[in-house]
Amino acid sequence: MNTPRTTQAWQALDAAHHLHPFSDAHSLNQLGSRVVVRGEGVRIWDSEGQCIIDGMAGLWCVNLGYGRKELAEAAYQQMLELPFYNTFFKTTHPPVIELSALLAELTPPQFNHVFLTNSGSESNDTVIRMARHFWAAQGQPQKKTLISRINAYHGSTIGGASLGGMSYMHAQGDLPIPGIVHIEQPYWYVNGGELSPEEYGLKAARALEAKILELGAENVAAFIGEPIQGAGGVIIPPSTYWPEIQRICREHDILLISDEVICGFGRTGRWFGCEYFGFAPDLMPIAKGLSSGYQPIGGVMVGDRVAQVLMNSGDFNHGMTYSGHPVAAAVAAANLKILRDEGIVDRVRDDTGPYLQKKWQDAFADHPHLDDVRGVGFLAAFTWVKDKSRRELFANPGEIGTICRDIFFKNNLIMRAVGDSMVSAPPLVMTRTEIDEMIALAVRCVGQTMDALAARGLV
Ligand code: PMP
Repeated sequence: MNTPRTTQAWQALDAAHHLHPFSDAHSLNQLGSRVVVRGEGVRIWDSEGQCIIDGMAGLWCVNLGYGRKELAEAAYQQMLELPFYNTFFKTTHPPVIELSALLAELTPPQFNHVFLTNSGSESNDTVIRMARHFWAAQGQPQKKTLISRINAYHGSTIGGASLGGMSYMHAQGDLPIPGIVHIEQPYWYVNGGELSPEEYGLKAARALEAKILELGAENVAAFIGEPIQGAGGVIIPPSTYWPEIQRICREHDILLISDEVICGFGRTGRWFGCEYFGFAPDLMPIAKGLSSGYQPIGGVMVGDRVAQVLMNSGDFNHGMTYSGHPVAAAVAAANLKILRDEGIVDRVRDDTGPYLQKKWQDAFADHPHLDDVRGVGFLAAFTWVKDKSRRELFANPGEIGTICRDIFFKNNLIMRAVGDSMVSAPPLVMTRTEIDEMIALAVRCVGQTMDALAARGLV
């Protein structure tokens, strides 16, 4: 157990010794971090005893909600039995075998193999090496460029951040690495102009074809995309986008990679985002909901076409000490069984997901400065805009989003701001009553935000 300390003592020690991810250490340490000490269901508690609704499921990962004893029990039993063994040198172990078989059962039919990692970033680094190895093993070593999208998020390692299309990440560390290029994102609200969403979806997809033709298909290994961009702001492509992307990949013989790190394991009300949009990827990076965040674990689902080549081309010289860690694997398997056996994904598809989406619409569709109220399953977002009639955003993106996010946080509701979009991805176990409570609180927070914006002359 941790030593009991006052909030101030925690904050002082944190400021003295801990560097936070994606944070400005100086301003954070002046304010002091909020110390989160406990979680149960869809709620977390801080060290001051405040109860907070977690509208983000941690970092889009605690699909099962907090406090599931079965997962703690699985970890405990596995630690007693076999806390670690590797799978590098002609060995395996029961938790990794059980998890692999379960993943083959739950993923689309072309997936019968998994390569395990510890995170989404490592999964995407694995994908880069695997896609290039796949073509090199077939005598095409030059077929190695990966095409991704502007404003994509694929992780924070050198490979993951290079695949990602975040310019503020590329600005640090001389990224992207060579051999990765980016095309436009399918963001109709911002880029669609006069086109209908369906027309624009085709146009955005055809940017891939243009890029393949420019580079030469013989030089392109793969296209990667999140079915719905998460960290980029819950950007839901028009229905025409993914089928056209699939057609282009097939026609030019390019591997299709669906980054399911957020969309996987029920977030859209289907087990995987590609199933929601109806396309069949060759590779599928996974993480987050795989263990509901109870243990760090990720992986790459490998489609039969790629697996056949990998399994017949000698050593694949890649792997991490903790690839297929027994405790993480045991916890992931326990998590997946609960998601399956309690029908949680189906409930999001048929009941709570549509209910949640309707509630967001009812709350904000008619608001004078909120627009593009959007969502699928348990993913949702809405955007602060200057002029709805012209789809005009505010001049200083992120300014209003940050003000709004801080008001939500102060009122004990966690949502995230991406530019001026407010995004939400609650645990999949959230009930109708909890949805009502969350959205009523969000409405109050939006009201307070309007007051704050008016006071600053922003609206
Ligand atoms: N891919 C996507 C789509 C993600 O959203 C994330 C994390 N938000 C990652 C990859 C990276 O995963 P991790 O943070 O576990 O490395």
